[in-house]
Amino acid sequence: MAGAAGRGGCHTIRGAQIKELLQSKRNVLFDCDGVIWNGETAVTGAPEVVRLLKQQGKRVFFVTNNCTRPRENYVQKFSRLGFTDVAEEDIFSSAYCSAAYLRDVARVQGKVFVIGCYGVQKELLNAGVTMVEEDDDGPDVSIYDCPLDPDVKAVLVGYDEKFNFLKLAKACCYLRNSECLFLATDPDPWHPLRGGRVTPGSGSLTAALETASNRKATVIGKPGRFMFECIAGQFNLDPEQSLMVGDRLETDVLFGTNCGLSTMLTLTGVSTLKEAEEYKGSDSPEKKDSVPDYVVESITDFLEALEE
Ligand SMILES: [Mg+2]
Repeated sequence: MAGAAGRGGCHTIRGAQIKELLQSKRNVLFDCDGVIWNGETAVTGAPEVVRLLKQQGKRVFFVTNNCTRPRENYVQKFSRLGFTDVAEEDIFSSAYCSAAYLRDVARVQGKVFVIGCYGVQKELLNAGVTMVEEDDDGPDVSIYDCPLDPDVKAVLVGYDEKFNFLKLAKACCYLRNSECLFLATDPDPWHPLRGGRVTPGSGSLTAALETASNRKATVIGKPGRFMFECIAGQFNLDPEQSLMVGDRLETDVLFGTNCGLSTMLTLTGVSTLKEAEEYKGSDSPEKKDSVPDYVVESITDFLEALEE
């Protein structure tokens, strides 16, 4: 049940089957939004699930494409929602991993031009990555006459509620230099908000810059492998001993498949069981790789498997 036989099988599992699966894994990786919480509300039982998993010797990590908060603010959110035993070291956001990539992999010698929010800027600051100062250009400044920093060696795009034409235009100018790196925190197209509203994600801002610059960004977040490499590098994880639990097929589940992890879709977020089953019959290899091994209604279902 818990082994390779389940690969891409989209099996809905409960109680004893969840127990058997968890017994076969040492590491559990959770996405956050739509999995352990929705906005400011924890999924029922999620804090208890995390506590019991840790108590039973599992290593629990949180892997999120949401770049709006630095890790220290995530810890506050966990605590506010009743998760009492989550540390900064357990949290891998696309902002934190982008900073790690710039510092440890790209080793950028110069400045980074950031289109992004506080979470991205703070993680870069924490990692000692130098950014172009956010100057207030004023209403009369345009791309025809604004200053450009000659030290920019990378452009990083993330979620930015203050995204505007001038930022896009400046980034475009920096990317004219083919040596200038082009990175994106994550590919998420949009995020659900309360009351049926949505907000555009980093992926939509990245797409604008890709079109304008005629270049493709290197994407740090899921479904790329880098976030897993980041965790594995720090905690020596064996993919075969690891389970990825997420609510989005084309990011969370595909990430798990790309990294050789077992995958589970939980139905408390974006993707539906119907979509997963449609992907199973698809001719597209990427869609096939986005079919989860297992499906649960909610991670609340873990409780029955963990309690006793
Ligand atoms: Mg999610």
